[in-house]
Amino acid sequence: MRKHKLLKSLASLQVPAIGYGIRYEFGIFNQLIRDGWQVEVTDKWLKGGWPWELPQPDEACFVGFGGHTENYSDQKGNYQSRWIPGEQAIGIPHDVPVLGYRVNSCNRLRLWRADATESFDFYAFNIGDYYGAVEEKVGSETLSKVLYPNDGTDEGRRLRLKQQHFFVSCSLQDMLRSLKKREIPIEEFPNHWTVQLNDTHPAIAVAELMRLLIDENHFGWEKAWKITTNSVAYTNHTLLPEALEKWDLSLFASLLPRHLELIYEINRRFLQQVRLRYPGNDLILRKLSIIDEEGNKAIRMAHLATIGAHHINGVAALHSDLIKRQLLPEFAELWPQKFTNVTNGVTPRRWVALANPEMSSLVTKHVGDEWITNMELLNKLEELENDSSFLEEFRSTKLSGKRKLAGYIHRQTGILVDPSSMFDVQVKRIHQYKRQHLNALQVITQYLRIKNGQAQGMAPRTVIFGGKAAPGYYMAKLIIRFINGIAEMVNADPDMDGRLRVVFLPDYNVKLGEQVYPATDLSEQISTAGKEASGTGNMKFAMNGALTIGTLDGANIEIRQRVGEENFFLFGKTESEIMELQNNNYNPKDFIEAIPELSETLRLVQLGHFSNGDVDLFKPLINNLIENDPFFVMADFADYLRAQDNVSRAWTNRAAWNRMSLLNTARSGFFSSDRSIREYCESIWEVKPLPVEITCDVN
Ligand SMILES: *Cc1c(COP(=O)(O)O)cnc(C)c1O
Repeated sequence: MRKHKLLKSLASLQVPAIGYGIRYEFGIFNQLIRDGWQVEVTDKWLKGGWPWELPQPDEACFVGFGGHTENYSDQKGNYQSRWIPGEQAIGIPHDVPVLGYRVNSCNRLRLWRADATESFDFYAFNIGDYYGAVEEKVGSETLSKVLYPNDGTDEGRRLRLKQQHFFVSCSLQDMLRSLKKREIPIEEFPNHWTVQLNDTHPAIAVAELMRLLIDENHFGWEKAWKITTNSVAYTNHTLLPEALEKWDLSLFASLLPRHLELIYEINRRFLQQVRLRYPGNDLILRKLSIIDEEGNKAIRMAHLATIGAHHINGVAALHSDLIKRQLLPEFAELWPQKFTNVTNGVTPRRWVALANPEMSSLVTKHVGDEWITNMELLNKLEELENDSSFLEEFRSTKLSGKRKLAGYIHRQTGILVDPSSMFDVQVKRIHQYKRQHLNALQVITQYLRIKNGQAQGMAPRTVIFGGKAAPGYYMAKLIIRFINGIAEMVNADPDMDGRLRVVFLPDYNVKLGEQVYPATDLSEQISTAGKEASGTGNMKFAMNGALTIGTLDGANIEIRQRVGEENFFLFGKTESEIMELQNNNYNPKDFIEAIPELSETLRLVQLGHFSNGDVDLFKPLINNLIENDPFFVMADFADYLRAQDNVSRAWTNRAAWNRMSLLNTARSGFFSSDRSIREYCESIWEVKPLPVEITCDVN
């Protein structure tokens, strides 16, 4: 649903667009915390029905899977291939209207629900096989059952690839059908549709559009390829190797045999180009090929998307730069004009106007309400940076957000927190690269300082964590357990009263986010440099007047440039320094031994201080840090602690803090998703707004 914000921005900018996806029955799980551990429970979001969708059964599409291909000669005697699928599903579109803000435009979110083609097998039923009679129905409908099937098993991976092909095929058929309905020749496809692949999940579109054009609409290869590459563009969202999608060749061949043939041909022609450019260089051929030949053969979806797209963009300046320098350097050399950047954004309607009504009305009082669709107008707030009574008013909107969140925290966790303490917040998916464990270890160091009577000048803090771990990601789940172990110890210790509280907020989601971003003083954006593509939480926090403690990673870099380096707490190694450590046999022990507070912090965990004496519980986490530390937590620890001390000092000067907070809000208008969308429209899609005039008389 993340593309929802882009559709909303598109509608607000009056650009016609359709968002395509799956109408799944179970979304991402709800998170419970039991004995400090994450427990997943199913999210039955459709229970009781949902009134905002419109099923359109008469626009259903058929999608094939499996089976085989066979060769034949067409009427002109040309050698052709055709696909005889082994099974079929039907996609029923469910449309959700997406309204623009104070304009007449309304875009469509079209979600496909999978139905069985034959819902009931009468033959099986008649011979007494009741379960067999519904088996095919159950099988097909599993397709749109869950949002992210577990990819830890062969069956789960098969289901994911099936889902991808299912919604991509339905969506492309839908686009072709709309041309036919309007009697527009299919050659004109790129002038009427621009297909933006949001990550590689829909990258099969490159092969599927070729199949629809060649097999079903009888285009020749060259023409079909031209249409495809003029229509498709690709947004990359990650550089992490484990997150780059690859499909096992045997799985792919059994599910999509015709697509595999087409991909082989796309690859053959592409490698021909590479050979001309790099004669005799087999290493480059192997590196760029869509087929990964190392170990088990696999299809590299990012390569397929890159070859089939006219533009490839990253989602922040550093990220787009790393795509060119590290992820796909030879592709960037072949096609420099394809590579570009569109820095991500967030919608000011949800994340400011709706989530933070008090701050919004104060802002509106001073700059008018146009900022809601033109965030750069927030710049005008800079005129008030030295107006002490305005700054106090600004601060009181923050305090009111903090009071509400304090109430929520108390109701959910039983923990009492003081709204006048600094709310120091890290909410986001739990992942080692996001380094919640760096924050958690720093909290232990502060705890030790208080215990040892060395806490002079330390600001009273409420450290708040929230986020879900992927169900199969053991280390992330252990980090949640770790945070809860620390919280239990800290919150029960009278020495910590008035100085330190630690909270893990269960079930962090968008709805809860609306309460959290406005209530935050300090935003933790502490990923290992080079690992976070952009981040969007960082933007929501800054807009709502939080100061950031962060690394030079993702959009943090651009946030810091815009809000001013004096209004941002920077720490940590740069991306190139991290690379250098990595290339020079990084040894975390060198850092641990050099920092007494860090060794002491780790020792306390090893002694079982945060696990009721259980010395084994956090061993996998601590040993990972001591021995490998793949995300350079130890290397950044000392500088993080230094920056946190600066934060504490800054907090004691209330007027200066308020001023920095205001400047963060005033200068973060660039991070509106409206600006991102404008950039997509101008530099990638070449489309213009199409205002909708109301023609009927509503009276
Ligand atoms: C914005 C948002 C995110 C993204 O946060 P990052 O800090 O950029 O990782 C994740 N989850 C929810 C619920 C959000 O609202």
